[in-house]
Amino acid sequence: MPARHRNIVPGFPHLLHGGDWNPDQWLDRPEVIEQDHQLMSEAGVNALSVGIFAWAALEPEEGRYEFAWLDAILDRLAKDGRKAILATPSGSKPAWMSLKYPEVRRMHNGVREPHHTRHNHCYTAPVYRAKVAAINRALAERYARHPALGAWHLSNEYGGDCQCPLCWDAFRAWLQRRHGSLAELNRAWYTAFWGHTFSAWAEVNALDRTMHAMTLDWRRFVSDQTADFIRAEAAPLRRLTPQIPLTTNFMGTYPGLDYHRLAQELDFISWDAYPDWHPAGGDDLDTAAHTGFNHDLMRGCGGGKPWVLMESTPSSVNWKKLSRPKQPGMHRAASLQAVGHGSEGVLYFQWRKGRGCSEKFHGAVVDHDGRSDHRVFREVAALGATLGRLGAAVGAPVVAQAAVLYDWDVAWAIDEGQMQRNCDKDYIATAMDHHRPLWRRGIAVDVVSQRADLARYRLVVAPMALLLHPGVAERLESFVRAGGVLVATYLTGQVDHNDQCFLGGFPGPLRALFGVRAPEMDTPPDHVVQTLAPTAAGTALGLSGSYPTRHFDELLVAEDAEVLATYAHEWYAGTPAVTRRTVGAGEAWYIGARGDRRLADDVVGGIAARLGLERALDLPLPEGVAAQARGTGADRLVFVENFAGAPRTLALGPGWRDAESGAPLAELALARYDARVLARA
Ligand SMILES: [Zn+2]
Repeated sequence: MPARHRNIVPGFPHLLHGGDWNPDQWLDRPEVIEQDHQLMSEAGVNALSVGIFAWAALEPEEGRYEFAWLDAILDRLAKDGRKAILATPSGSKPAWMSLKYPEVRRMHNGVREPHHTRHNHCYTAPVYRAKVAAINRALAERYARHPALGAWHLSNEYGGDCQCPLCWDAFRAWLQRRHGSLAELNRAWYTAFWGHTFSAWAEVNALDRTMHAMTLDWRRFVSDQTADFIRAEAAPLRRLTPQIPLTTNFMGTYPGLDYHRLAQELDFISWDAYPDWHPAGGDDLDTAAHTGFNHDLMRGCGGGKPWVLMESTPSSVNWKKLSRPKQPGMHRAASLQAVGHGSEGVLYFQWRKGRGCSEKFHGAVVDHDGRSDHRVFREVAALGATLGRLGAAVGAPVVAQAAVLYDWDVAWAIDEGQMQRNCDKDYIATAMDHHRPLWRRGIAVDVVSQRADLARYRLVVAPMALLLHPGVAERLESFVRAGGVLVATYLTGQVDHNDQCFLGGFPGPLRALFGVRAPEMDTPPDHVVQTLAPTAAGTALGLSGSYPTRHFDELLVAEDAEVLATYAHEWYAGTPAVTRRTVGAGEAWYIGARGDRRLADDVVGGIAARLGLERALDLPLPEGVAAQARGTGADRLVFVENFAGAPRTLALGPGWRDAESGAPLAELALARYDARVLARA
């Protein structure tokens, strides 16, 4: 990712506030568009994503472009001092194109999709790429020097696959580049199993979900092909507007694409966050913790640099089974949490509710009544004023001393691998559970790939790293020898990058580093809860009482490691369950069982405390309060949010002020869902 822009929008040193706006839905109602411009001023809005699904409005028939309406929109945005995050329209192709060029439509199971919904283009079809390049070139030529142009928003939420003949040809070519020869492909895919051996490339023509290496390669190909499509989309923009950064909107842990791969094509990361606030049967703290993980994952995709919350709802959504409006205060708390995790602003889907079709009831800043005197609009406007006072946050980095590893290859290998347990595998939830002990202490965490540079971290947690890429084991060992602490869990080091099991015992190439072997694993049913209990060595390191375990119990053999806890139940009572090995200047911990949240907290939180990892605030945070820091030294800002559902108080002591008002703060009283930003006095 090129590091070309300190401010995400060059020459615009403000946190962004705004969102998706679709004036192309209102071209017959100019008074509505005029009202929008006025309401944007009232709401403190300075950035609008425009044109996301506007291809049919921009090119109503092949080769005839209609830019007058967009000229007027951008001219007015510039006049009002606002920036456009101008979209390329490839997320939704016009109907004339689907009819005239059927190959632009995706195909599955030999059937071409009809022209419907959106995000349904074949990313390989040369004619689609040519049409996208043509309209993107026309947009870039027309608006290259327009003062409103702040950034490019490529397409929208890339996703899905296509299995048309063109895509199969491209997949076979990709396989030839990756594996070199058919003999190597047969070896990599372990095709001797069930007699799947291929004798000609043309025989590779259908996905077989029982061939895990094939489905892994297919998913990698889909990511590479989407990245290649992005590069083609971006080419005219990069050529004609090299000064304008470009992004596309990601979707957190969306399983369909390897975002670490796609990130290489972008100038900055942005993503669409729709947390389940006020969930039935849950609490907001869980939602906040999960959202913090997702923000850290998205920031990690961009190498830790600031990113943008491209979509969020100011109230509710309309595409979940149940979605309640954000309660008073939650909008501010959720938004400042995002900024605390590194977002360069807060943008919404959507600015105004449309009148018809799928998203007419999706939350928006401006409702169908067009009024600015209701609660949602007022909370948005208040946040706009707050963001306007936080210019010091622009470009300020999040500096993390800890990392949690998360990889799409691992997620795919776990999800698709047929194993002893094929339910409740929960890779994402497990990664979140091991991120949470750090998050709740206000310790910054980067969520990064196995391939990331780990030298900057002091603690690395690798939950369920079932698949290990080549060289990762060696790099983890170097990290530990140099003084780092590594924590791994059950299901680590079982398969290589071709999804073939490591020989010689699990955790494969990490066996010597951890000094353990996991020859057997129990996978009890849900209602069976086992327990593990700390040894004297475990107690000395902060483990206490007994911990319930569920779903996965690896029966460890401690070959060269201290045993910190053993199972207390069943036929494997006394068998090692948690171990530690001191290696060089560092430590390698292995948690063999899926414990409860307290076990993760005692292990990861205990290590963080021993290492003295830097916290946003140098005091214990009350339960339900989250804190994140941006910037360093005297410029450091601390974002504090109360997700507890009840008031909380923090005794800050001297040296702090409210970053918005400048008032000194020795004690911080937070009402329910209150959020504040602190600066050094
Ligand atoms: Zn295709």
